[in-house]
Amino acid sequence: MDAPDRVRPALKIKPEHEKLLTVIASLPSGYRLPCWMDPDRWFATDGPSKLSATRDCSLCPVRDECLAAATAADEKWGVWGGVVFPLQGDASHCL
Ligand code: SF4
Repeated sequence: MDAPDRVRPALKIKPEHEKLLTVIASLPSGYRLPCWMDPDRWFATDGPSKLSATRDCSLCPVRDECLAAATAADEKWGVWGGVVFPLQGDASHCL
């Protein structure tokens, strides 16, 4: 599956992302996800950048689907759905 042009450029598409990509494709034309605007912050190593990314995720209309996809894909790096991966402990409270 090809990534829609509204997905952050650094995203490597996995089968677990399929539902997320479907929801993204249903967004209004021209809408840009917060992580698309500045993708480096979503894979930053410093705390302030990660915190800033998690806050911006809270404004995202696909946050729930994003977090579910990242959890299912067992992502090892980055901010997904407002949560820093890799997950630490039980993240079921985030879903
Ligand atoms: S929840 Fe965050 S990481 Fe996921 S698509 Fe939205 S802005 Fe990007």
